[in-house]
Amino acid sequence: MEPALHLLATRRFAVLTGAGVSTDSGIPDYRGPGARVRAPMTYQEFVSGEPARQRYWARSYLGWSRMRHAEPNISHHALARLEAAGHVPLLITQNVDGLHERAGSRALCALHGRIADVRCLACGDRSSRAGLQQRMEGANPGWAQRHVDVVVRPDGDVELDTTSGFVVPTCERCGGLLKPDVVFFGESVPKDRVQRCFDAVESAGALLVAGSSLTVLSGFRFVRHAAKQGIPVVIVNQGTTRGDELATYKVDAGCAPFLSTLTAALTGTAGTAWTAGTPVQETSRRTDSTTPSPASTSP
Ligand SMILES: [Zn+2]
Repeated sequence: MEPALHLLATRRFAVLTGAGVSTDSGIPDYRGPGARVRAPMTYQEFVSGEPARQRYWARSYLGWSRMRHAEPNISHHALARLEAAGHVPLLITQNVDGLHERAGSRALCALHGRIADVRCLACGDRSSRAGLQQRMEGANPGWAQRHVDVVVRPDGDVELDTTSGFVVPTCERCGGLLKPDVVFFGESVPKDRVQRCFDAVESAGALLVAGSSLTVLSGFRFVRHAAKQGIPVVIVNQGTTRGDELATYKVDAGCAPFLSTLTAALTGTAGTAWTAGTPVQETSRRTDSTTPSPASTSP
């Protein structure tokens, strides 16, 4: 952990976060250790017909009430403080939960969008997910009460099998189909959003990855890009990640102990007490920055 902390103490660094920073807020990581394997709905499936949309929105309707009550944790607060202290030019997150904003991060790119926003696929109108929640409640009286015991997933979805009969509201402006304004599997991240992140990574002195297994290319490509440019990469994650071979330092640890220690070291604040006895271990160190990685042949 020490060498990684030292590296980050000596330069500004862009940050990429994944589900691992939000698990302490009670939002489960469906790719993390012990997670249930379940394929998320793809864009193609979502637009395939009414049954798929009923399935999506009925589950989302139940999951939303839990996700909207989640609070930022030590990791979100630590990253917001690091930004305020001038250490982080851009925080890129793969999470759609909005917790970085709630903690006060402003230089933020929500790579996959925000679950709090809804977009009309016909007219492009953007509206609030909270407003849609009220409309779904009005159109489906008693639905939530009949489904109290459900398992929540990180995208606000829940495990639920019977969703036929759920009434899905349409766009109030044009009657078009409503979709959460998040990037589904099978969809691309908007180009200008990706470019903004590439620019930030290129101009930063390092890239810190926190709480992501980098399974999805949309995040992994920034690690690959940094490594190609000779920009040092620090990865903090419990368990192996797709980027381990490209990392200058890999710290096998939870995000909270690492980020609170880093914040205390860089801002001189000791207010983020982390008391659990989680062992923090540096598991690998890449010394030759020209070593090609098998990951660089990925799509
Ligand atoms: Zn519309």
